[in-house]
Amino acid sequence: MIEISGLTKAYGDTRVLDGIDLTVADGQIAAVVGPSGAGKSTLARCINLLERPTSGSITVSGQDLAALSGKQLRLARREIGTVFQSANLLRRLTAAQNIALPMRHQGVPEAEIRRRVGDLLERVGMLQRANHYPSQLSGGQRQRVGIARGLALQPSVLLSDEATSGLDPDATRAILDLLTELRDDLGVTILVITHEMDVVRSIADHVAQLDHGRIVEQGAVADVVRRSDSPLSRALLPMPT
Ligand code: ATP
Ligand code: MG
Repeated sequence: MIEISGLTKAYGDTRVLDGIDLTVADGQIAAVVGPSGAGKSTLARCINLLERPTSGSITVSGQDLAALSGKQLRLARREIGTVFQSANLLRRLTAAQNIALPMRHQGVPEAEIRRRVGDLLERVGMLQRANHYPSQLSGGQRQRVGIARGLALQPSVLLSDEATSGLDPDATRAILDLLTELRDDLGVTILVITHEMDVVRSIADHVAQLDHGRIVEQGAVADVVRRSDSPLSRALLPMPT
């Protein structure tokens, strides 16, 4: 579970996040939507501990992240996997080596690494591409390797920041099916940042709209779509075809 309360992040005098309250229940997928510059990626970077909040609290699996330091902080980082747009794979490493990297850093024994890399490649449907370099993979395949790497340390929380943007519908579908499987089979709690309302409709349990650093509307997707006159419910209406 992710519990965010009164989260504020300021750079100098500019409040990029301004009093965010958001809870993602265990084994659920929450989507954060909002215009460019709203603060979505900053929110993700606060949750995965790449940024320190200015104030407020973020609790992941019962631990207040702000209270952690040293070894506890390193352990907490392992609880939270992140997948970025463009996957950020290392070009000089193969798919398998990219996935192995977080485990190497944590000193996981080599035999265990080999076993887990095989499991992860299989889970994301990339076993046949284990020895390909990122330049030899399609965008969607790179994203799947990125997700496998995000899962390498068996996190309880996965953050996905625009993991499907720029992908064609089939590749997007494959990633969304994978995220849904992770929720349903492994009980991973997932926060998806996206500007694609299709993504929200097809996989999210909860949706929050961010604007100028504030959540302007949120709720269970099933409830939001029934709201009669809300901006978010209108945005979620499928486009007429
Ligand atoms: P996009 O949809 O374009 O990815 P976003 O919602 O992810 O947008 P953020 O990247 O979180 O937006 O940025 C929110 C605001 O914070 C922007 O105005 C950005 O310029 C500002 N910002 C982000 N990081 C920093 C930083 N390190 N220093 C100063 N300002 C920053
Ligand atoms: Mg962003």
